[in-house]
Amino acid sequence: MQDPAALAAYADRTAGCTRCALAAGRTQVVFGSGHPDADLMFVGEAPGFHEDQQGIPFVGQAGKLLDRLLAGIDLTRADVYVSNVLKCRPPGNRDPQPEEIEACESHLWRQIELIRPKLVATLGNFATKLLSGRPLGITRVHGQEQQTTLGGLRVTLYPLYHPAAALYTPAMLKVLESDFARIPELLSHSLDAPAPAAAAPSEREPAPEPGSVQLGLF
Ligand code: URA
Repeated sequence: MQDPAALAAYADRTAGCTRCALAAGRTQVVFGSGHPDADLMFVGEAPGFHEDQQGIPFVGQAGKLLDRLLAGIDLTRADVYVSNVLKCRPPGNRDPQPEEIEACESHLWRQIELIRPKLVATLGNFATKLLSGRPLGITRVHGQEQQTTLGGLRVTLYPLYHPAAALYTPAMLKVLESDFARIPELLSHSLDAPAPAAAAPSEREPAPEPGSVQLGLF
């Protein structure tokens, strides 16, 4: 990270965001948490009830599973950065709407630009479709890493099942565990690769079009 204060400053600015209607119903913006210079970043869907209350992503049951999966590869939440496609809780935990994703996505691009992760693991369909820029569902693409450019950086994108989906589906949990087990290897390959400097804003790829497809947990 070029300037460690820049992420905190951006989080402060985002705390007052009113770009979409979710601002009216939230307790607070859930910007993200973890190491501001992490090599590994996770992107989930949206804050739920507990996240909205506490201001931290993945603190409910899905978050506990994420913690367990991280422990399984000798990592903690302090080693990684965790965020979501949407920074505010959709009412009743409904699916993010295309206009909400569109309003919020530049916050995610900016986070990626500032954190400069090497490996970005998307949790579930919403994050996978947004960050891959493709309509392919998580059932089809989970566990398949790809090289892409996000926030002007070359990163390895690694789609994973959403922990909330795996919580109630033992077969999916097994797949998530085995996909998770490949993270250390992917991380070490990503770290080996030379990191090109961030492109100037005019050279950056346009953000992929979000929300034009059926999105869901799987
Ligand atoms: N908690 C989050 O922060 N994000 C999710 O996608 C699910 C639970």
